[in-house]
Amino acid sequence: MNTVDTALGPVATAELGPTLMHEHIVTRSPGVQENWPHLWDRTNILEIAERKMADLHKRGIRTIVDLTTVDLGRDIDLIAAVAKRSPVRVIVATGVWWMPQRYFTAHGVDEVAALFIRDITQGIGASGVKAAIIKCATDTAGVTPVIENVLRASARAQKATGVPISTHTWAAGRSGEAQQAIFAQEGVDLSRVIIGHSGDSEDLGYLRGLMERGSTIGMDRFGLEQYLPTAKRVEVLAKLCAEGYAGKMVLSHDANCWSDMLSEDAKRRTRPLWHYNHISDDILPALRKAGVAVDQIDQMLVRNPRAIFEARKPGRA
Ligand SMILES: [Zn+2]
Repeated sequence: MNTVDTALGPVATAELGPTLMHEHIVTRSPGVQENWPHLWDRTNILEIAERKMADLHKRGIRTIVDLTTVDLGRDIDLIAAVAKRSPVRVIVATGVWWMPQRYFTAHGVDEVAALFIRDITQGIGASGVKAAIIKCATDTAGVTPVIENVLRASARAQKATGVPISTHTWAAGRSGEAQQAIFAQEGVDLSRVIIGHSGDSEDLGYLRGLMERGSTIGMDRFGLEQYLPTAKRVEVLAKLCAEGYAGKMVLSHDANCWSDMLSEDAKRRTRPLWHYNHISDDILPALRKAGVAVDQIDQMLVRNPRAIFEARKPGRA
């Protein structure tokens, strides 16, 4: 039986069901709440998360992938506590985002890769929770030396463990291409890679290229109108489905239950569509209207995520 590790242990990939491939439970600046604990109300955050996960489950979503890294304040005990209260499964990531601590500059590729491999094979800290996906990121600054270090470490950890890579990109700068080039140089099978935030782009040539080279693209920021308005996101996705690319796309919001960047009120005021339920409530009906078939939606929400987590090297636990 094919299984994937989640915050509460291994689950059969056949059981994953409709899956949002790029979300967060909590994102925060590491070190801030530890030093100013009055900024952190863990009980309240757990309550918010419990409510949001229950709402998601009501809409038929069964799994989310939490791509929160160390520099986004990954708190594995909190993630596990949310998962225990949640009817929706949580898959956990290792890796580093684009604001790495000095540690990742001061240590070489293999040393960083060893940390990722440890999270995947032994578990994160003392939690016993194993990561099942590797996150890395390239933003407006491009492939700086530390980012290159992290991309190569991600590639080596991918090859050592078989788990997929999922990236953050600056789509307007076509960063997915630079990421694919580095992964290919390291010998990664590009079909094991999800190029994230591709849904921020309406450059069809760029998007087709990423998929033609083998990767899946993340149409994963629904509701973030400032990067690309909803109508455009739907139009691009429907066009690519019509061209036969539904097997190479996954869906998500890149939303969170709680963030130290933006209060719940500020989120509602400034990004009213940016929440866990936007795809279920608004996007799936809009896609249907735009001619996307029910089977293609099932492919992007259910079969593609399952295949991505199933394709580990044979013989690996
Ligand atoms: Zn994200």
